Amino acid sequence: MKRVAVVGASLAGVRAAQELRAQGYDGGIVLIGAEAHLPYDRPPLSKGFLAGTASRESLDLLDTGDLASLALDFRLGVAATALDPAERRVRLSDGTSVHADGVVIATGGRARTLPGFEGAHVLRTVDDALALRAALVPGVRVAVVGAGFIGAEVASTCRSLGLDVVVLEALDAPLAPVLGPSLAAVCARLHLDHGTDLRCGVQVTGISPAGVSLASGSVVPADVVVTGVGMTPSTEWLAGSGLRVGNGVHTDEGLVTELPSVVAVGDVARYGGRRHEHWTNASEQAPVAVANLLAGHTARTYTPSGYVWSDQYSGTLQLAGHPRPDDTVSFVDGDPSAASFVATFSRDGVTVGVFAWNNAKLFNRLRRQALRRPESQPAVQG
Ligand SMILES: Cc1cc2nc3c(=O)[nH]c(=O)nc-3n(C[C@H](O)[C@H](O)[C@H](O)COP(=O)(O)OP(=O)(O)OC[C@H]3O[C@@H](n4cnc5c(N)ncnc54)[C@H](O)[C@@H]3O)c2cc1C
Repeated sequence: MKRVAVVGASLAGVRAAQELRAQGYDGGIVLIGAEAHLPYDRPPLSKGFLAGTASRESLDLLDTGDLASLALDFRLGVAATALDPAERRVRLSDGTSVHADGVVIATGGRARTLPGFEGAHVLRTVDDALALRAALVPGVRVAVVGAGFIGAEVASTCRSLGLDVVVLEALDAPLAPVLGPSLAAVCARLHLDHGTDLRCGVQVTGISPAGVSLASGSVVPADVVVTGVGMTPSTEWLAGSGLRVGNGVHTDEGLVTELPSVVAVGDVARYGGRRHEHWTNASEQAPVAVANLLAGHTARTYTPSGYVWSDQYSGTLQLAGHPRPDDTVSFVDGDPSAASFVATFSRDGVTVGVFAWNNAKLFNRLRRQALRRPESQPAVQG
C-alpha cells in the first residue's frame, strides 16, 4: 500500500494516522479535513474552552513533534466530495483528487438542527464554540434545547459564567433512555441544585426574537438559544460510491466496509449495526481498523468499552459498559443524594455497566473487575 487517504481530520482520523505509523506503515498518508484548522479536540468546546479557561492551543491534537514524525500530507479546508472505488480516488471540493490504495473514513458528523431554529447556536466545531462564547455576555438569558451530554455541559458552563439558564427537554428526565429513571433523576437534580431551570416533557417549535416558542403556545424568554439535539453522520460525500450508508457508514465488526481497502472509524462508523458518539470509542477503534486495512481483510474485530465521561457543574460523571434503561441499578458506594457515588447496572444477575459521580477511583476498579472485556479479537474465519 503506497498511499492512504484519511478523510476527516479530527480525533478518529488523527488516531488512524498515528496507528498507521505505529503499525509500521511508511507510505504516504493524506489527511483531508473540511475544517480549515489543524486537528483539535472537541470535549473542551462545551467545558473549559466555552468558559474561557482553556486556551485554543490546549485543544490541539498534534504537537510539533507529532506533526514532524507522522509526516502527514494535510489537505485542510477542503471536503471530500466523492469516493470513486474503481479509480481508487477521493475527489475533493477544490476540484483536485487524491489517488489512494486505502481509505479511512473518519468524517464524524455535524450538529443536528431543528426546523424553526434557524439562527440558534449549535456546538460541534471550534468556530461554533467561538460564536457561542462571544454571545455569552453578562446578563444574557440562555435557553438550551436538549438535556443530553452536550446540552447539560453548555448549561453548566453558562451557570458557571453567572448566566440565567433554562433547559428545555422533550423527555421526562435527562438522559433517561441511556441511564434509566433513577440515574436520570440524579442528572435532573444536578441542574436544579445549580440553579438551572430544567423543564422536561416540553415540545419546542421554534425561535423568535422573544425566545423559544413551545407547542403549548407559551414562549420561554431567551437572548441566546443553543440547540443540543445530537448529530448527523457526515456520509453524503459517499453517495454513488457503492458503500452502504444510513445513519453512518456500515461496516463489519472489524470496521471494514464492503470494500476491504476502505475502513471507517469514529462517530461515523456503524459497525455491526451500532454507532457510538463518544471520544474513547473514536480513539479505540483506530488500532483495529488500521490492522484490518493493512491486512486487506477483517483480521480483528472491535470490542467497545462503552466509556463516556461528562463534566457537569460540580463534578464528573463516568459511564462504562452497555447498560439499558430497564437494567437494575444498585448503588454500591454512596447514594444518589451524595456528593459522590457509584452504581452498577445489572441484567440477569450480570453486571453490564458502571456509573460514577465524582468517584473515578472506584469507578475504574469496578470497571476493570466487573466489565472485564476481551481485547480486540482475532476474527473468526469462515
Ligand atoms: C462539544 C462537544 C463535547 C464533547 N464532549 C465529550 C465528552 O465529554 N466525552 C466524550 O466521551 N465525548 C465527547 N464528545 C464527543 C467526541 O468529541 C466525539 O466522539 C469525537 O469528536 C468523534 O471524533 P470523530 O473524529 O469521529 O468525528 P468528528 O470529531 O466529528 O470529526 C470529523 C471531522 O471530519 C470532517 N469532515 C466531515 N465531512 C468531511 C468531508 N466530506 N471531507 C473532509 N472532512 C470532513 C469534519 O469537518 C470534522 O472535522 C464531545 C463532542 C462535542 C461536539
